[in-house]
Amino acid sequence: MLTSSSTLSDIRAKITARERISSEDALYLWREAPDADMRSLASQVRARFHSPGACTYLVMRIINYTNVCVAQCDYCAFYKLPGQEGGYVLTHEQVFAKLDELLAMGGDLVGFNGGFNPQLSLDYYCDLFRAIRQRYGERLEFYALTIAEFMYLADHANLSYLAAAERLKQAGVRWITGGGSEILTEDFRRRHSKFKYTVADYFAAQRALVESGLRTSATMVIGFDETIEERIEHLERTRAFQDSLISASLISASPVAAGSTDSALSSFLCWTYKPYFTQLGGIEITTSEYLRHLALSRIYLDNIPRIRTSVLTQNERALEGLLYGADDFDLPIEDEVTQLAGATISLNFDKLLATARTLGFTPTYRHVATGWNQPA
Ligand code: SF4
Repeated sequence: MLTSSSTLSDIRAKITARERISSEDALYLWREAPDADMRSLASQVRARFHSPGACTYLVMRIINYTNVCVAQCDYCAFYKLPGQEGGYVLTHEQVFAKLDELLAMGGDLVGFNGGFNPQLSLDYYCDLFRAIRQRYGERLEFYALTIAEFMYLADHANLSYLAAAERLKQAGVRWITGGGSEILTEDFRRRHSKFKYTVADYFAAQRALVESGLRTSATMVIGFDETIEERIEHLERTRAFQDSLISASLISASPVAAGSTDSALSSFLCWTYKPYFTQLGGIEITTSEYLRHLALSRIYLDNIPRIRTSVLTQNERALEGLLYGADDFDLPIEDEVTQLAGATISLNFDKLLATARTLGFTPTYRHVATGWNQPA
């Protein structure tokens, strides 16, 4: 049970002195700190990495290359079991058409996210990613898979995580995101996704990715039935994992500069659970709760340079996250997984960017492919 003997002014003093807050402090902040204090403390930590008023964004799409999955997470409205009507696997041509459309809309980042499909071999993935690299070169970058899918395909191919990562690297892969983390506590996974690997497996796979020279990221999803203590445990495990990479000299110990291409947790993205048409069901958390959680994440994750706010699940109001410590956001054009569970997507990018400006921020396009930023 977490209890803190600190007061709000003690915690503020720690943050001003660039000291770390504890899990107990985080719980205290969550329960006791007014919103205005959460905002100002998060902005203080944000300023260690980013100029006040600066933020970045990118136009991207998720390509859901298959919806066939054997994991059966109870919060998922997307999957079909093998042989079930409606299951699909996209062809290369269908993937290329989606990539061409993304480029035409000014985007240059794509994330692949499908299911644990027993019909797809490691060769399927390597062929697809090699074909994309050959066809598009540096015109776009892709996040090939989430860690959860990566673990499944390594197991399925009977390879160690390091060996599977090496095969993907040879096919032109540079990134595998931290997706599939949801809430990183063993108990949460037992409750909702018992076929989706343990927390210990998750970090073992992520460490293998970093050791193999692939880049990765941290993610989180809130709004299921998790407790605040579970949310804080997720943040603690994430921070500790980044620390372990630093102590193993896998990344630099100095605060990693924003925009760094270091192969470690360069960003943290949290989005919210959409409960519609899922077995778990439930009701959505409020945007106010999401924003407070973003602030807590910014304060807690003092070793991760970039905190991203989720336009995909919070729409225009996600941009208020910039006031709560976030510094980066996606403008998504597609993600079937969240759309099937109730997410809605706006393609009115001008309006979204105007909202960021109204809040006092200057958005700059972040090109993951080439690592340079360009004013909107
Ligand atoms: S969340 Fe992902 S792993 Fe879980 S059932 Fe859905 S597609 Fe499968």
